[in-house]
Amino acid sequence: MDFWQSDELAAHREAARAWVEANVRPEWAEEQHRTGCHQTMALHALLARDGILAAGRPPEYGGSDVDPGFAGAVFDECKQRGLHFDGWATTTMVTYTIQHAGTEEQKREFLPAALRGDMMIALGYSEPDSGSDVAAAKTTAVRDGDGWVVNGQKMFTSTAQVSSHVFVLARTNPDVPKHKGLTLFLVPTDAPGFEIQPIHTLGGQVTNATFYTDVRVPDSARVGGVDEGWNVMRVALVYERGVASPQSVDQTLSEDLTVWAREARRPDGTPVLDDPLVAERIGRIRVDEEVSRLLGQWMNWHAAKGGVPGPEGSMRKLFWSEMAQRHYSDALDILGVEGVLAPEAPGAPAGGMFEHDFRAAVVTTVYGGTSEILRDIIAERRLGLPRHRPGG
Ligand SMILES: Cc1cc2nc3c(=O)[nH]c(=O)nc-3n(C[C@H](O)[C@H](O)[C@H](O)COP(=O)(O)OP(=O)(O)OC[C@H]3O[C@@H](n4cnc5c(N)ncnc54)[C@H](O)[C@@H]3O)c2cc1C
Repeated sequence: MDFWQSDELAAHREAARAWVEANVRPEWAEEQHRTGCHQTMALHALLARDGILAAGRPPEYGGSDVDPGFAGAVFDECKQRGLHFDGWATTTMVTYTIQHAGTEEQKREFLPAALRGDMMIALGYSEPDSGSDVAAAKTTAVRDGDGWVVNGQKMFTSTAQVSSHVFVLARTNPDVPKHKGLTLFLVPTDAPGFEIQPIHTLGGQVTNATFYTDVRVPDSARVGGVDEGWNVMRVALVYERGVASPQSVDQTLSEDLTVWAREARRPDGTPVLDDPLVAERIGRIRVDEEVSRLLGQWMNWHAAKGGVPGPEGSMRKLFWSEMAQRHYSDALDILGVEGVLAPEAPGAPAGGMFEHDFRAAVVTTVYGGTSEILRDIIAERRLGLPRHRPGG
C-alpha cells in the first residue's frame, strides 16, 4: 500500500472542493446543528444524482464509475464544513452486509435503491435492556404464513426519523442459547405498527426510540438465514467500527485550533500560538490525527481487496473515539475559561465549535461498541487472551 499522498489525491481534493462549492449550501451545517438530525436529505439527493454514493460499488448492483478517491474527498470536504452523514453511514454498513450475506434478489433490489438515494437504513440493534450485550435482544419476530410479525422496542435508532427502513435484530427462537436464536430484518418505517420517539443527547444529536407493534414484513425482508442473525450482524459491526464510516470524527482539529490560536491573544497581547505548551499540544493532536487517518486507510484497503476486517475495525474505532475525547478536552484547556461557552452564547471562542464538539465526542465511545467491549475484542481475538465475558 502506498501511504504517500499522490498527485491523484490532490486532484481529487481540488475537484471535490469545486463540487462542494457548487452544490453545498452553508445553512445545511447550521440546520444539522440546530435540529440534531445528522443527515441532510437534500445533500444526499445531490450525492446520489452525481454517482458519488455509488462510487466503488459493483456495477451490477448499481455502482457508478465515479472514482472512490473523489467520492471520499467530497465526504471529507463536507465534513470539514461541519456536515455529518450518519444516515448514509448506517446505510453503507447495511448495504455492505447485504453484499456479503444477502440473497442475489436482495442485492439487485436493495443495493441500487440505496445507491440511488431512495433507501436510507437505520440500525435497530440496541434495546432498553441490551446494548453491549446486544445478543440479549427481546424484540421478537414470529413466522406468520410466508412472512413475519415483529414486536418490541429498540433504543438509539439513530436517523430513523429520515430513514425508509430499520435493520432490526429480532429473536426468532427463544429456546436456544441467546446468540443462536436471532435474525435480521429490513423493516420499512412506513409499515403499520411502527412508531418513533426522539431522544436528545448530550452532544446535541437527536437519536430515537422505535416501537414495533405487530409489524408485518415479508420473508424477503430477512437478511441472512433464520437464527443466523448474530453472524450477519458481526459483519455489519465490523463495517461500523472500521470501514466506510463517513461518520467518524473529522481529522481537522489541529488545523482549526492552529487557525484560532494564531488569531487569539493572551492578556499580554501575544498570540496564543506563541505559547510553547499550546504548540506542543496541537502537535500531539496532529500526530494522533495522522495515525487515525492511516488506520482508516488501512481498513479501506483491506475492504477494497474484498476482505472483512475483524478486530482491526475495533482497533480503529477505539483509537479515533478515545482520541476525540482527549483532543477536545485539550482544545477546551487551550481556549481557557471561555472555552466552555456554548455556540449559542455571545462571545464564545471559535463560535463555540470546540465546546460543541467536546460534548459530541462523549458519545463516540458508547455507540458502535463501548471502549471496554472493544478492548475485550482486541484482547481476545487479536492477542489471543482468554475470554472473560460471561456468555459474551
Ligand atoms: C448517540 C448514540 C447513538 C447510537 N446509535 C445507535 C444506533 O443507531 N443503533 C443501535 O442499535 N444502537 C445505537 N446506540 C446504542 C449503543 O450501541 C449502545 O449505547 C452501546 O452498545 C452501549 O449499550 P448500553 O447503552 O446499553 O450500555 P451498557 O451495555 O449497559 O454498558 C454500560 C457500561 O458498562 C460497560 N460494560 C458493559 N458490558 C461490559 C463487559 N462485558 N465488560 C466490560 N464492560 C462492560 C460498558 O462499556 C459501559 O461503560 C447509540 C448510542 C448512542 C449514545
